Amino acid sequence: MNAEALDQAKTKVVEAVDRLADDLQKISLQIHGNPELCFKEEKAAGWLSEFLEKQGARVERGVGGLPTAFRATVEGSGPGPTVAIMAEYDALPNIGHACGHNVIATAGTGAGAAIAAALGTVPFAGRIQVIGTPAEEGGAGKVRLMEAGVFRDVDAAMMIHGRCGTQVWRPSLGIIKVKCEFFGKASHASSWPWRGVNALNAMIQLFVSLDLMRQQIKPDARVHGIITKGGDQANIIPEHTSAEFYLRAPTKDYCKELLRRFDACAQGAATATGCTAKVTADATIHDPLKANFTMAELFGKNLERIDFPVDPDDGLAGYGSTDCGNVSQAIPTIHPYIRISPDGIPGHSREFAEWAKSPLARTGMVAGAKALALTALDLLAKPAELKKAKEEFAKTRG
Ligand SMILES: [Zn+2]
Ligand SMILES: [Zn+2]
Repeated sequence: MNAEALDQAKTKVVEAVDRLADDLQKISLQIHGNPELCFKEEKAAGWLSEFLEKQGARVERGVGGLPTAFRATVEGSGPGPTVAIMAEYDALPNIGHACGHNVIATAGTGAGAAIAAALGTVPFAGRIQVIGTPAEEGGAGKVRLMEAGVFRDVDAAMMIHGRCGTQVWRPSLGIIKVKCEFFGKASHASSWPWRGVNALNAMIQLFVSLDLMRQQIKPDARVHGIITKGGDQANIIPEHTSAEFYLRAPTKDYCKELLRRFDACAQGAATATGCTAKVTADATIHDPLKANFTMAELFGKNLERIDFPVDPDDGLAGYGSTDCGNVSQAIPTIHPYIRISPDGIPGHSREFAEWAKSPLARTGMVAGAKALALTALDLLAKPAELKKAKEEFAKTRG
């Protein structure tokens, strides 16, 4: 039995996270203060991979053909399964780290670094990896890494995400990203307006149609978008307009149903205004998260071990989406939430960006690093648990 060895390893790793906490917080604030957009996270990837290397992990940079991805490995006592801890570190345009990925980055990195620093090698068969996954916000970086084979030998994966409460399991929605363009005809907006065909009118009509459609879709589904081009100048009838939308739902099938209805709205708007419509759906569909309660339970027990409280889901917020959903459909995965703000602070808000650098965020990051590390150790030390997680994965549908 590995029970005693596991308990000792866990104690050492928890102590190591506490020892590294000041350094991790420094990196967290550095990332927060230097927000980098998807696929451009050069500084963050550099700081995190350097830190892992310094603590004794073997680091590979630019894995999967993505320059800002990395993989840090801490080997175990012999051949065996691979448990991956994922770290995100990209920011949002204009509002910086309003999703708190600086905390995800340092919690994941902290988990791997503490294991390397405290144990040198993992005292169980297998290995633990920290995979630096770029471009969660808008780039589906994890999908690119999966396609490139970075997750091929991974048996189980995990990460944490900051939130206004701690929940070991919370669903996420699938997404189809879609671009809609309208093509009309330019003309002088004052002297010859009747010779123009107004592509902005078509766009406005599309938004109105979607607003009407919204009343007839399932309550968990979401349709939202922005106009990225509304015309060139007020004295020209717009000949080309463009917008981007996310169509989200708890299942991939309902996402596809939303796309079908979106397309009908776009064609209707084109017909009504004499324009032509071009609807382009992104080839990458974000999958909803598939639950793994075996792993979630282990994570919850480890939060208990470190006395970090789990909150009831207050039900006040809807659900987001993540490219981790695609990982969860391929291998047993968990994506628990850790409190880094008071109740009721929305993600992707300027308030949440402030909380992501607060002492509360540090506390959440440290707890996240510990619980991730301990859960990864559990899965290697107790092959029966990993087997159970895999059986649950095979039995359940997304
Ligand atoms: Zn986000
Ligand atoms: Zn996020």
